[in-house]
Amino acid sequence: MTDKHPAAATALRTDYCGELGLEDAGRTVSVCGWVHSRREHGSELAFVDLRDRTGLVQCVVSNAHDLRSEYVLRITGTVRARLEGTENPKLATGAIEVGDCEVEILAAAEPPPFPIDGRTSVDETTRLRHRYVDLRNERMQHNLRVRARVNSAIRGAMEAQGFLEIETPMLIASTPEGARDFVVPSRLSPGEFYALPQSPQLFKQLCMVGGIDRYFQIARCLRDEDLRADRQFEFMQLDAEASFVSQDDILHFISEAVAAAAEAVTGARPAEIPRITWLEAMERYGSDKPDIRFGMELVELTEVFAGTEFNAFKAPCVKAICLPGGAELTRNKLDALTDTAKRWGAKGLVWMKVEANGALASPVAKFLSADEQAGILAATAADEGDLILIVADERRTVWRILGLLRNELGRPPVTEGGLSFLWVVDFPLFEALGDDGKPIPAHHPFTMPHADDVALLESGNPDDLLACRSQAYDLTLNGWELGSGSVRIHRPDIQRQIFSLLGISDEEAERKFGFLLTAFRFGAPPHAGFAFGIDRLVAILAGEENIREVIAFPKTQSGADPLTNAPTPIDAAHLDELGLRVLPKAKD
Ligand code: ASP
Repeated sequence: MTDKHPAAATALRTDYCGELGLEDAGRTVSVCGWVHSRREHGSELAFVDLRDRTGLVQCVVSNAHDLRSEYVLRITGTVRARLEGTENPKLATGAIEVGDCEVEILAAAEPPPFPIDGRTSVDETTRLRHRYVDLRNERMQHNLRVRARVNSAIRGAMEAQGFLEIETPMLIASTPEGARDFVVPSRLSPGEFYALPQSPQLFKQLCMVGGIDRYFQIARCLRDEDLRADRQFEFMQLDAEASFVSQDDILHFISEAVAAAAEAVTGARPAEIPRITWLEAMERYGSDKPDIRFGMELVELTEVFAGTEFNAFKAPCVKAICLPGGAELTRNKLDALTDTAKRWGAKGLVWMKVEANGALASPVAKFLSADEQAGILAATAADEGDLILIVADERRTVWRILGLLRNELGRPPVTEGGLSFLWVVDFPLFEALGDDGKPIPAHHPFTMPHADDVALLESGNPDDLLACRSQAYDLTLNGWELGSGSVRIHRPDIQRQIFSLLGISDEEAERKFGFLLTAFRFGAPPHAGFAFGIDRLVAILAGEENIREVIAFPKTQSGADPLTNAPTPIDAAHLDELGLRVLPKAKD
């Protein structure tokens, strides 16, 4: 039995449809909602299933001929137990029905563009074009309830930890998150533009200078990036920042927030979130967002092949993964895997099937010495029937290829394997060197270097720079990056050094972030923060692979909104007012 909604009663309604039960038998009730289905019962009577956001209730209605699917009705009648043998155990209200009904049509409805039965598969554009109809499906209703519960739990957890909710502006100057900005032309200053926030990053740091001490916001962020299953132009983040804290403090605050969110949905508080360094994550899982719901860890074989005669394994790094039971894969499948690995940038992929007594069946087995073969078996601990996949290359390439293969072959669906949160700490400060030889920040330019690695910054030597760790950390869940954060640089001398390494001139720094640097001159406390994506968290908690399923009004993969038709052209007068002219579309 569900608890009754305390606020069900309104001017038109006494109860929600889905909350009526045997305990209501004999009561006269009024329910409001949409006609889910109508089944004739003789010539006079019909069963009308009325639906609202809580579910369905069967109403026995006379003269129901005018009532069509999705008509909006108010039905007043008496709750009664269904006749023995006619109960519907699949329906929460299946033990009762509403009889002696008086029906008021509140609104007629055209036939819906698709059935609202949760079973019919409807193409996404059609669903989004009529999202208001799609939202009536139980799946969407459930997902949006999960979302609301997650938001509320996060807000509660942050407030309980002393964080103050502060709203930051939407029309701002650019924020350095590394994506493309959405811009808004200024009417009052033609030719000038606001950027929509990629994140509230700079404002939350200013809040710290402003003595707010602990800030949070469930913030809308906008990034003009290609869309994917886990990415939309606009998305929601729990954004937080705190002063006089260490990395551990932030990890604790955020762990509390996600634990509260998970508990609010699943009823169980997740275990303490384990931590792993970035380097360990790459070595063991080949990914900085490892899915630790399954094993298949990367195994080091570089030593085994230190003196090999086999050319393909004469490489700086040789590693393997082992797929339990994978020896049954057909030759076609293995060829397809090899092609996939090559498409990802591998020079090749070596496969070996483990046969009886540890014999290795592989096109390359004949090139490997007995010691090497024994070394592979010992390191991978592979058994008969397993498949071993080996990649030899530069270490980073090996990580990437095997990390992708591991996910491709081992990753459980989103609804299986529970929730595996993981903190990945000690990220490198720089992701790579750009074409200009300058390092590219792995997080953003305000990230504090790791205390033990500051000396590496002095040399300026590329290997040292790439080896320099930072005080940046990510939170992952089931192989999805949920969010990132860092301890910030609050000292102007270190900030200047980082800007100069990044090739950001004083003039550029002043132009882009001058207000932040100026603020720091007026007393900046040490501070650190984090932000995680609420859409992704909700999707996983709701068992959805795609964040669009947990967003009320998302955009399609191509960035369009089939419901409102956005984006749309604007008229010439409006363009004039903004001082803009649209160039003809470039031909492909
Ligand atoms: N602003 C960062 C982001 O949106 C998070 C942070 O560093 O707090 O990814």
